[in-house]
Amino acid sequence: MIRISPTDRVFILTGAGISAESGIPTFRGVGGLWRNRRVEEVASAEAWQRDPRMVWDFYSMRRRVATTAKPNPGHEALARLEQSLQDRLFLCTQNVDDLHEQAGSVRVVHMHGELFKSRCDRCDRAPFDDSAAYEPPRPIPRCHCGGKIRPHICWFGEIPYDLDKIATALDDCTVFIAIGTSGLVQPAASFVARVRGAARTIYVGPEEPANTFAFTDCYWGKAGELLPNLFHSA
Ligand code: NAD
Ligand code: ZN
Repeated sequence: MIRISPTDRVFILTGAGISAESGIPTFRGVGGLWRNRRVEEVASAEAWQRDPRMVWDFYSMRRRVATTAKPNPGHEALARLEQSLQDRLFLCTQNVDDLHEQAGSVRVVHMHGELFKSRCDRCDRAPFDDSAAYEPPRPIPRCHCGGKIRPHICWFGEIPYDLDKIATALDDCTVFIAIGTSGLVQPAASFVARVRGAARTIYVGPEEPANTFAFTDCYWGKAGELLPNLFHSA
C-alpha cells in the first residue's frame, strides 16, 4: 500500500506496460521488431527522411491497434487518484495511446507525443487531431504549405515535449511512481535518479527495470491487478 498524505505531491511516470493489458503490445513484447526492422529504425527522423511511406505504414498499423483498445483497471485507478489528489498529481506518460484520457484522466502530459495527432514537418502549425490510416493507395498527406504531414510523435533522437513542465514537477514531488516502463529510454529513465533523496521512489511492474537500483520500493505484478488497491490517500 502506498500512503499518500495531504501534503504529498505525486509524480507518476507510465510506460508501455500499463497499456499491455489493454492489448497494445510493448516494444519488448513484440521483440522490438516490426516487419523485421528494429522499432528504433522505423520511429526515427532518419527513417522519415528516407522512407516516409514506411513510417506511415507503421503508425497506421499502430493507430488501428489503438483505436479498438479500451482502458484497463490500471488506467482507471490513476484517473480516480487524480480525482482525489487533483493538482497534487502530475501524470506523465511515455505512451502515445489515449487510454489515460479514455479512463478519465484530465491532465496528462504526453512526453512522447500522441498517436491520434499529426503535424506538419515543415511549418509550425499546431498539432491537430487525426486518427486516419495512411496506407497505399492513400498518398502521404500534405500540408497547405507543401510540407509533409507526419505523426505527432517524439521519435528516437528527437527532444521530448514539455520537459520544462516535467522538470518543475519532478523538483516539486514527494512521491515518484514509475509504472510499466523498462528504464531504458532516456530521458525518462533518469527521472528517478533526479528525485532520489528528495522523494519516495516506487516501481510497479512485473519485471525489474534497468534502473531498479534507484527505487526504494517495488511492487512486482501487473499494473491492472496491482493499481486498483495500491493507493491510500488520507
Ligand atoms: P518498453 O516496451 O520498453 O517496456 C515495457 C515495460 O512494461 C517492461 O518493463 C515490462 O516489464 C512492463 N510490463 C509488461 N506488462 C506489464 C503489465 N501488465 N503491467 C505493468 N508493466 C508491464 O516500454 P517503455 O519503457 O514505455 O519505453 C519504450 C518506448 O515505447 C516509449 O518511448 C513509448 O513511447 C513507446 N511505446 C508506447 C506504447 C503505447 O503508447 N502504448 C506501446 C509501445 C511502445
Ligand atoms: Zn505546413
